[in-house]
Amino acid sequence: MAYCPRCRFEYREGVTHCPDCGAELVAELPPEEEFTLPTPETELVELCRMTDPNQAEVIKAALQEAGIATLLRTKGPITGELSKVVDGATDDEALLYVTRNRLAEAKEVLQKVQTAPVVWPEGMTPVEDDEGEYDPEE
Ligand SMILES: [Zn+2]
Repeated sequence: MAYCPRCRFEYREGVTHCPDCGAELVAELPPEEEFTLPTPETELVELCRMTDPNQAEVIKAALQEAGIATLLRTKGPITGELSKVVDGATDDEALLYVTRNRLAEAKEVLQKVQTAPVVWPEGMTPVEDDEGEYDPEE
């Protein structure tokens, strides 16, 4: 039997090239892992998750500034502005992914972003709480 290493289709003996992609057929397919095995450069790992998509965007921007590629995924029901006002919360969740080889750097950036003093626009300074700390869960 002959196989296309790209399409992973099986062809009759005597066929030398894949009719679909033109690749040279091989007698045996290499194990699937060779195609999917993640490397530190390609494997995405979860950096953090948050319920505030705006905060996720801020962190993503900070990571990009540091030259770290990120993937932002959001899940959960699509919640309109109205229900946000009514409920004060949504079930939305934003997940930030980075490649494994940049995870340590990304965590440093994340920490800096989360501990950085929040600069509020004039007249919008919130009342200081006792801790004086920015809680990302709030
Ligand atoms: Zn093919």
